[in-house]
Amino acid sequence: MALIVHKYGGTSMGSTERIRNVAKRVAKWARAGHQMVVVPSAMSGETNRLLGLASELAPSHAKNSYYRELDMLASTGEQASSALLAIALQGEGVESVSYAGWQVPVRTDSSFTKARIESIDDKRVRADLDAGRVVIVTGFQGIDPEGNITTLGRGGSDTSAVAVAAALKAAEVLIYTDVDGVYTTDPRVVSAAKRLGTVSFEEMLEMASLGSKVLQIRSVEFAGKYKVPMRVLSSFTPWDIDLEEEAKSGTLITFEEDEKMEKAVVSGIAFNRGEAKISVLGVPDTPGIAAGILGPVADANIEVDVIIQNISKDGKTDFSFTVSQGDYQRALELLSETVAPSLGASEVVGNPNIAKVSIVGIGMRSHVGVASTMFRTLSKEGVNIQMISTSEIKTSVVIDEKYLELAVRSLHTAFGLDKSE
Ligand code: ADP
Ligand code: ASP
Ligand code: MG
Repeated sequence: MALIVHKYGGTSMGSTERIRNVAKRVAKWARAGHQMVVVPSAMSGETNRLLGLASELAPSHAKNSYYRELDMLASTGEQASSALLAIALQGEGVESVSYAGWQVPVRTDSSFTKARIESIDDKRVRADLDAGRVVIVTGFQGIDPEGNITTLGRGGSDTSAVAVAAALKAAEVLIYTDVDGVYTTDPRVVSAAKRLGTVSFEEMLEMASLGSKVLQIRSVEFAGKYKVPMRVLSSFTPWDIDLEEEAKSGTLITFEEDEKMEKAVVSGIAFNRGEAKISVLGVPDTPGIAAGILGPVADANIEVDVIIQNISKDGKTDFSFTVSQGDYQRALELLSETVAPSLGASEVVGNPNIAKVSIVGIGMRSHVGVASTMFRTLSKEGVNIQMISTSEIKTSVVIDEKYLELAVRSLHTAFGLDKSE
């Protein structure tokens, strides 16, 4: 029998009825003899509700003291759902105890709202497991060196679960969610999307970083670093299905690539609506321009994604890049008010209505012409490509947001990913 970590997302914990269902499923695993640790998210909508209350009282501002309170606030969502799950398990006759991040403790750095886990103490959890209890550890949160509560960024319970699994050297972490695995693209956008039986760790890393929110990217990084076996599966199957069958369902994240190389060239399509484009127009085309623009942006702790510099005309050039929508206003103001005047730019313009679409696949390494198929497909649909960025196993394009679904659907078909009806 093994030590297993289960993670349940917000929808899976979304009502008392669903929590009871989770408890019954976990009880089934515990009764089969496994040592069980469960990491729940807040009930669906709760994190948004709490953060909404904060912004009603004071709109977001870049003060550390404000972010500290956001973490104090948002972490309560997971504390409530964890206690409810422990209560539900006790109702099923299973001994169970829940811990907030600080009680374990899950130690993080001090970057409020996007903290990174540094270490997890396994003593308390192990003692409970050895005493035959199911242990519930809140997702999404930890404690910093000064004793402040921190959170790990949206979707962070995935990362809590994988980190807990790594710390306990668990046999496997099962990420239960509202879809039955990882698909070739978001099945809520493309109904022809196919579930993948396995996906390589590298592809999953790219898909998560390029916007597939089925797993938070840091959870995939952790799984890779500590080689934690990880599976994504549905929490909406009947709780009493055969355990062996359940254990093999969904999508396994694999660390072996060989057989995969022979298969699809492109294995998935990811997209991100959460970016915005900024262009600095008419800057003198002299050495140091990129540093002059992006240096102050980096100093303001704003991450830049796709970058493009146009050819020079009359000694002037245009420079564009994307940032996350959350940083858009701040970046625009910074450039318009300080950077552009000092560089002698003619204008700074922005566009928040863009989307990034990416094709991902380790098979792309050994195939030429993949990017050109992507460009041809989009041009046939009349979708204008504004920016391009490539790496060994992905090609991303920035397009007008209104063409997003059309682009994803047509690329899904062009790369042979549609399921046969
Ligand atoms: P949870 O609350 O369980 O953490 P999330 O909403 O964070 O769930 O993630 C699951 C969602 O991810 C799905 O409902 C689906 O819409 C979306 N998604 C995006 N890309 C994919 C993909 N490639 N495969 C499966 N789901 C995806
Ligand atoms: N509750 C947090 C969120 O909504 C963390 C999570 O669900 O993973 O982002
Ligand atoms: Mg999630």
